[in-house]
Amino acid sequence: MLISRDFKFDSAHYLPKYKGKCERLHGHTYKMRVTLEGEPDHEGMIFDFVEMKEVINELVVSKLDHYEINQIIPNPSAENIAVWVWEQLSGKFRDAKLVKVKIWETADCYVTYKG
Ligand SMILES: [Zn+2]
Repeated sequence: MLISRDFKFDSAHYLPKYKGKCERLHGHTYKMRVTLEGEPDHEGMIFDFVEMKEVINELVVSKLDHYEINQIIPNPSAENIAVWVWEQLSGKFRDAKLVKVKIWETADCYVTYKG
């Protein structure tokens, strides 16, 4: 069984290896979906949604929201952000397993990373 929680953060970035307007500094309201897999425990939960929010805010959102992402991830494409998010969160949910990270750079464009 899978559970997911969605987050948003506003960040600036630029793509130094890209030829086009995205090589200049600009911003996005990123959407992120983190998905865990597991079996419900004696409380009927795979992982508490409240604790899931706290963990992800501490390890990911607080480090990206209203920051220039290039200072953390040198070439912050949505793909590279998804890998970085995975590295921060993998193994942080006890018996529940991180199985998917989705990053929306715009409403229509997103990346799915499965580790
Ligand atoms: Zn961009």
